[in-house]
Amino acid sequence: MKPLAIFGGTFDPVHLGHLSVAWEASELLDADVRLMPASVPPHRPPPTASAQQRVAMLRAALQGQSRLMLDTRELEREGPSYTIDTLIELRAEQGDRPLVLLIGADAFANLATWHRWRELFDVAHIGVLSRPGVDATLPDELEREVADRRTADASASQGLSAGKLIELVVTPLEISATRIRELLAAGRDPRYLLPAGLFDESALLAPYRR
Ligand code: ATP
Repeated sequence: MKPLAIFGGTFDPVHLGHLSVAWEASELLDADVRLMPASVPPHRPPPTASAQQRVAMLRAALQGQSRLMLDTRELEREGPSYTIDTLIELRAEQGDRPLVLLIGADAFANLATWHRWRELFDVAHIGVLSRPGVDATLPDELEREVADRRTADASASQGLSAGKLIELVVTPLEISATRIRELLAAGRDPRYLLPAGLFDESALLAPYRR
């Protein structure tokens, strides 16, 4: 059975960095990938675009291919949405199928601040996506937990349902949503940093324009 990979984020907005690394991860792992927009807890700064607007951009971005899918379950759930709860839910749905949580190297470095983070490895593998400008050194507590789990072999998830830390070396693309929001707010046109579908409907990028 093909592994199922989950790529969470705020996607405010989804950009070609997200899509390119998700696509490459899908090839390296021979996995189906679901992009899973996160609802942002009330104590955190809200995304610029609403959940509904972020989903509309994801839908436009994902048109014309069938390898990357959209999963909006975290937006439909009441209250704060923890990755561990999402993975437990997916595990119940998917049986023994290998699950891989995809995380960019910048976000992965903060893993030890996530709710019940050690338990993530009981339910899924973690696939860390290389990202330009991110230092590979991890905080001690995290390094200790992952040292024995680490592998550069992308096929490690085949036939094993959870527990590995898979290093996925993907084409470096120095694109961030923060930079795109800045460009749009300054009246610039970041045409080739974003999927073309986002420009087809002018309302999609309106939340970022001043
Ligand atoms: P922001 O600039 O608003 O923080 P972002 O571009 O980092 O946004 P997120 O939606 O926060 O995008 O990221 C979702 C996931 O995608 C995270 O795990 C992040 O590390 C990863 N990611 C985003 N952009 C890239 C990129 N260019 N290369 C590799 N991973 C990326």
